[in-house]
Amino acid sequence: MAALTFASRASRVASRRAATASASRRCMSSDAAVTLPQYILNAPATDLSTLDNGLRVASEAGHGATATVGVFIDAGSRYETDANNGTAHFLEHMAFKGTEKRTRQQLEVEIENMGGHLNAYTSREQTVYYAKCFKEDVPQAVEILSDILQNSLLSPDAINAERDVILREMEEVNKMQEEVIFDHLHATAFQNTGLGRTILGPEENIRSLTRDDLEGYVKTHYTAPRMVLAGAGGGWYISHFSSFSSSSSSSFSSSFSSSSSPSPSPSFAALLWSLMMR
Ligand SMILES: [Zn+2]
Repeated sequence: MAALTFASRASRVASRRAATASASRRCMSSDAAVTLPQYILNAPATDLSTLDNGLRVASEAGHGATATVGVFIDAGSRYETDANNGTAHFLEHMAFKGTEKRTRQQLEVEIENMGGHLNAYTSREQTVYYAKCFKEDVPQAVEILSDILQNSLLSPDAINAERDVILREMEEVNKMQEEVIFDHLHATAFQNTGLGRTILGPEENIRSLTRDDLEGYVKTHYTAPRMVLAGAGGGWYISHFSSFSSSSSSSFSSSFSSSSSPSPSPSFAALLWSLMMR
């Protein structure tokens, strides 16, 4: 899916820009605390929880009709070897190619009918899957995220088809000076370590990675303690204190019935968690 490929790369670049911007904001904040604009002072608090399985949850229930939910995973070239360098990025591509529950087309139509947006990007240290949607659709978006993370088909045909897509992406990345210079910088500064490797990996790996490689990577890295589920916006639908509709609350309730913690229930995360426990 070329469009998603290009979106992925754009997101990666955008996230780097965002990181730079936030770093400069941090620098300014210490001597400008008294002049912080009211909208920042009025920002809702971020609620944090760690579920029993190690999944961390962060939610900031803001105002507005829409919400964004994302799963941030410790997976990227930093955690790869020479032999499997590029696997995290390859997996990111495969997430949109169909699951046991949804064909690729069904997934695309479902997102389109929600008026939502589903995307992902891979950096050296993180793979991120996220969805933007109307707040009423948060449970559905979380369920879709959990589905593509757990139940990707990884069909050999789709894997082989995706090799060419990624090789084309590599050609495009290699034309972007801001990408190339960071690849060279990392290769020089972090020689013989995971951080020295590129995100896409070498061409020979893109041509040779197998379904077993992808599955092994999921088993190793797509685990609850290596994930953060974050949500923002969406008011009640994102709040730690909210609960879902009765159709989904049964699995949610049972998931937490054994918990002795009096802390508020991270409901949107609990849905994901309960799905992961199936
Ligand atoms: Zn890509």
